[in-house]
Amino acid sequence: MLPLVALVGRPNVGKSTIFNALTRSRDALVHDEPGVTRDRHYGFCRLVEDRPFGLCDTGGLSGEEEGLAGATARQARAAVEEADLVLFVVDGREGPSGLDQNILAFLRKSGTRFFLVVNKTDGIDVQAAVAEFARFGVERVIPVAAAHQRGIPELLEEIIPEL
Ligand code: GDP
Ligand code: MG
Repeated sequence: MLPLVALVGRPNVGKSTIFNALTRSRDALVHDEPGVTRDRHYGFCRLVEDRPFGLCDTGGLSGEEEGLAGATARQARAAVEEADLVLFVVDGREGPSGLDQNILAFLRKSGTRFFLVVNKTDGIDVQAAVAEFARFGVERVIPVAAAHQRGIPELLEEIIPEL
């Protein structure tokens, strides 16, 4: 079986945009409305020819436990459990939020390896955006601007050796 990488983060940080950049597909629904992907969505990354891996896009962890948001969160948690590596996606423009902190705590508890992917770094000071998340204490932090394909090769370079 191929190794599996899961995309996790609060709604609207750009998980589906990263999924599309890595799978080079328009499979994932990218939308301004938070929580558009409510279940798990699978694809393949074949950008490094001899090292394909599976990708799982999730609807995001909203912090709400009721109704659809709760179902979405359960799916995201299930994705973390089955993944070999998690990409914890955050918004470099908005900076750290309380919800990010909750997700961080959940990921640490899960025991699954994860990278912090700081997205939306286009048009802002990348180093300053990354520094905002220093207190999360995550070893591997990768800035990207997925909507502009920026940082995607570097992200791949970090992912591949971990699988
Ligand atoms: P998801 O809810 O985490 O899956 O987020 P989406 O991938 O659906 O993206 C949410 C919004 O952020 C969309 O309007 C995207 O166009 C926008 N977005 C995604 N990546 C970037 C980026 O690198 N830079 C900027 N400025 N916007 C982005
Ligand atoms: Mg999405």
